[in-house]
Parts: sequence; C-alpha cells; structure tokens
Amino acid sequence: MSMDAYPIEVAFPDITMHEHSSSGVAYVHTFDSGTPGPHVMINALTHGNEVCGAIVVDQLLRGGLKPRRGRLTLSFANVAAYGRFDPAKPDAARFVDQDFNRVWTAKVLDDTSLMSSELTRARAMRPVIDSVDLLLDLHSMHEKSKPLIVAGPLQKGIDLSVQVGTPATVICDEGHPEGRRMRDYEGFGDPSNMEKNALLIECGQHWEQSAVAVARDTTARFLLLSGVIDEADLPPDWLAPLPPVQHIVRVTQPVVATSMDFRFAAPYTGLEIFADAGSVIGWSNGEAVVTPYDDCMLVMPSLRQLRPGVTVVRLGKIEQTVTRASTGG
Ligand SMILES: [Zn+2]
Repeated sequence: MSMDAYPIEVAFPDITMHEHSSSGVAYVHTFDSGTPGPHVMINALTHGNEVCGAIVVDQLLRGGLKPRRGRLTLSFANVAAYGRFDPAKPDAARFVDQDFNRVWTAKVLDDTSLMSSELTRARAMRPVIDSVDLLLDLHSMHEKSKPLIVAGPLQKGIDLSVQVGTPATVICDEGHPEGRRMRDYEGFGDPSNMEKNALLIECGQHWEQSAVAVARDTTARFLLLSGVIDEADLPPDWLAPLPPVQHIVRVTQPVVATSMDFRFAAPYTGLEIFADAGSVIGWSNGEAVVTPYDDCMLVMPSLRQLRPGVTVVRLGKIEQTVTRASTGG
C-alpha cells in the first residue's frame, strides 16, 4: 500500500510572479508596519514538493496581507526544487542537490568550500532569517498521517506549540544527525534566547487537500498569536476548531530495519498510541518489535525506503497531555 503513489488533489500554484521582492532576496517578501512588534516569518517550500505551504503563502501575497505591528516575511525557500516538480516523479522535487533543511549552522553556511543549490539559497536567505523572531515553517509528509507540530527539543518550542493550540500532536525531537534544520538555527535553537522561537508543521500528506486546510489554520493562528495582524485581515474560514487535547510527545529512539524482512503489525499511518509497554508493533527478521515503555506513540512510520539501516518509524513517549479549557457553549 505505502509504495503506491498518493493522488495529487491540489493544484501547484505558479509562483513566478513572486520572484521580485523589495527585500532584494528573490521570493522573500518582507513588510514593515513601522510600529513595534516581532519579525514573523511564514515560510513555504523548505522541501520543494511540499506544496501546501506554497498555496498558503501565494494566497497571502496575492491578497496583499500586511502587518499592523512589527514585520512580516512571506517566503518560498527551495524554489529551484519546486520548479522541477513533475507529477510523474513527485518525490524527486524534494531538493536539487541536498536537503535544504540540513544546512542550518553558521559553520556549514560559512564554509565556502561547501557548494550546492540549497547552500546558495540558504546563504541568500540567511540575512533575513537572522532577523526573524518567530518562524513558522510549513511542511508535509510522504505518507498519509494526521498533522503534527515539530517543536524541537526545547521547552520554549513546546510552550509556543501549546499557545498556537493545533495540531493535536506536538513532537519534541533533536533533529537529524545529517545536519541542522532551519527551525533549530542559531537563536531558534538557543534555550536562553527567549525572543526567538520556531515551529515546523507537518500539515498532512503532500498532495491531500486537508493539508492545505491545516496550513491555513496554523498560519492564521501563528500570525494572530504573534500580534502582527488582526483576525479581520485574514481570509474568511481559515480558522478551524482547536483540538480538545494536545499530546506532547518526546521522540526517544528510531526503529531501524536490519534487513528487507520488516513488516508492521498493522497498516499504521502514524500517531497510533500503545498504552502498555511490550505491545508488538512489527516483525523484524521474524522477531517481534515491541514498544519499550507505556504510552508509546508511532511517529511517521514508513516502509517506502525500506533497506537495512533505514529508520522505519520513530518512537515517542507521551510526556504530557494538555486539555484545552472549555470555551463554553
Ligand atoms: Zn518537509
């Protein structure tokens, strides 16, 4: 099942009209209200085939959204990869040379011996990112899954996720050994820097219409929470009801395939919860794979890339369940 391509339900917007910008960085539009407030950034296309964010940013730019307080940046990151999108090979447009979301340390960006399409783009965007206080990075997923927030490893990311209030699952993790994500770059990843904070939203499967609705809702709530706009500035119907609870989930370990002989115990789509330690979630070389602790959640299971050494799912421990106070009615 998971090897099949998912249907492409959404249209890919033509974003070429957004190339020229007053910021001087192509496809990066910064608007200054002239009054005090944070610099808030809504970023799309960190991965070139993750279109829901591009639909949202395109719509906000075409609608002429401007901040009432502070500054607002609306941006498309890996436009070179997006430009290569081919419905026959939709995953090929994730990046050109390397993952744009694995280059975000000063050390890597400063190292001029390193060159790639993505590094060139990251270096061009870096002066803008350096001035951003609050970043919302809009992503989507290979496999069908309910949406989730990637809050990073720090408490300030969890706190911001709970303030935004949606999606219902907040994933706390350290990122990837291959390189640092934009959401963990410099001040965003510094626990002592309380001015800067960032969230990454996995809005749903790349091509599903519901991912666009999640991207709109989270973008609207992020902008309202930051105070740069008022609700009347948003397109109507972008806000969706908040989930009644949010689970705060700490990723503890990957499950890594040791051979091609790996299967899950059921057709999981992610965010399944196993109350009891020792629950069988799959079979690896004929041996049961079990949950190591109570209240264990499966994070983004996928056999798409199955081969020895590949992570087929990450396990998360539910650390906290936040119940939203009833708003009456
Ligand atoms: Zn992504």
